Amino acid sequence: MREQLLQIFEESYRELRPRAPIPELIVQFFAFANINNTIRLREGKLLVRLSDLLEGAPDTVLHAIAHILLAKMYRKPISREYSTRYRRYVASHDIVRKAHLVRQMRGRKRIESPEGRTYNLEEIFDDLNTRFFFGLLARPQMTWSRVHARNSLGHYDPAHNAIVVSRVFDDPRVPRYAVEYIVYHEMLHLKHPVKLRGSRRCVHSGEFQAEEKLFPQLEEARKFLKHLS
Ligand SMILES: [Zn+2]
Repeated sequence: MREQLLQIFEESYRELRPRAPIPELIVQFFAFANINNTIRLREGKLLVRLSDLLEGAPDTVLHAIAHILLAKMYRKPISREYSTRYRRYVASHDIVRKAHLVRQMRGRKRIESPEGRTYNLEEIFDDLNTRFFFGLLARPQMTWSRVHARNSLGHYDPAHNAIVVSRVFDDPRVPRYAVEYIVYHEMLHLKHPVKLRGSRRCVHSGEFQAEEKLFPQLEEARKFLKHLS
């Protein structure tokens, strides 16, 4: 199995970088708390960790995730064919159900909870991570705010590596896409970190804004949230 996995990564590497020598590859399955895949270059070696939820995936799916990770590593465009294939597989019921079970088993106890009365922030994060980020973002702590703060929708707290969403939105009258939009916005802050000395971090680069426009219900969500405040 491991040999085969290495072969898949080597083939993907060749497709992306036909001329460059292949660095030493270490590919492992890893028990993340959610569907998560990481790639790092360390001392000339490529270290890949795949979610163990992908352990039984067909070769074609592993090839797709290999392409996505390597393209990300070497800043190459991600082929649509591969991204669709990966997304479809992960969205299949089996994987979603398995991920949910694993989350329940591996989830740590916290004082503040991602589980609200209406929405579970971890579930929303994982879903968005799969739909928009190929499952590549490591999930920070997700919590509803303690107070019903209306002045702040949500924020990313780098000191605690936490995304905090105002509890006002944990309400059946709030459409899911509005909560998704707030979380998606904070996920973009995770993806596009900004070095800032102050405690607040809300800088929206052109790249950030372009990516924000990929959220399908952007207009509706903004309208809804504006109406509320
Ligand atoms: Zn912001």
